[in-house]
Amino acid sequence: MDGKPSGRLHAAVLGAMDCEIGRVMGALSGAETLREGSWELVTGDIGRVRVTAVRCGIGTANAAACAALALREAKPDLLIIQGTAGAHSPELRRGDLVLAERLVNIGAYMSDPHPEGSGVRTSLWKPFETELMLAEPRSVYELCSSDELLAAARGTAEVLREEGRLSGRVIRGTVGSGDVWNREIARIAELRRAYGTDCEDMESYSAAQVCASFGVPFLCVRVISNSELTGEEYERETASAAQDFTLALLGRLGRS
Ligand code: SAH
Repeated sequence: MDGKPSGRLHAAVLGAMDCEIGRVMGALSGAETLREGSWELVTGDIGRVRVTAVRCGIGTANAAACAALALREAKPDLLIIQGTAGAHSPELRRGDLVLAERLVNIGAYMSDPHPEGSGVRTSLWKPFETELMLAEPRSVYELCSSDELLAAARGTAEVLREEGRLSGRVIRGTVGSGDVWNREIARIAELRRAYGTDCEDMESYSAAQVCASFGVPFLCVRVISNSELTGEEYERETASAAQDFTLALLGRLGRS
């Protein structure tokens, strides 16, 4: 990753809840806080990288607003959103990590017209596009993490694995986001079929959308905190695994 002319890389890191960003904030040395509306942008150092960490709040609007603020105020070279997610893939267990190669908006769909009395058939709902605000606005069905950041994340996973600091699986996959928490196995299967999701959260896609509009490299890292498919209940403590991974990744970015 090329940094600013000063040579110092600056990364923004978002997490929705205290349990998803507190560890990153606690690792910042020389931290200073800038209050912007209801958000606190906490900026400090992790090794050679300047980091602005923000608790964005739960949900798509909070994540988008916070990403826009962080990009405008901190002018970072890249933005990482990380936290917990629920599994859509039967392969995933609590504690596994998903590096989001693709991101989709599972809150965006369109139904065909059906007359009154014909019921609601969610399996027929089709993904709806997102309008990406660029100089020439573009409609998209998916967004991607930066290839360079994904490569760095994969490298970090290999090193952590060799050092015995990674117990779960790490996959490259598709993260679906929306203001939704799905617990019906049939609905989870429908979403996986329609959108190709491996897991779901409530923030990543909207942060990716803002980064794409601003032209800022983006990465999403999610730890599985719950799975209806394996019967594993939500466990918020899993959030530390995504943060530990992010801290290791930041250390690596500072050395490259
Ligand atoms: N009710 C919870 C708090 C909400 S968790 C509690 O008792 O603490 C919501 C956060 O977890 C969101 O930020 C979302 O990104 C993430 N998340 C984890 N699993 C999820 C799932 N299965 N569906 C949607 N969001 C999930």
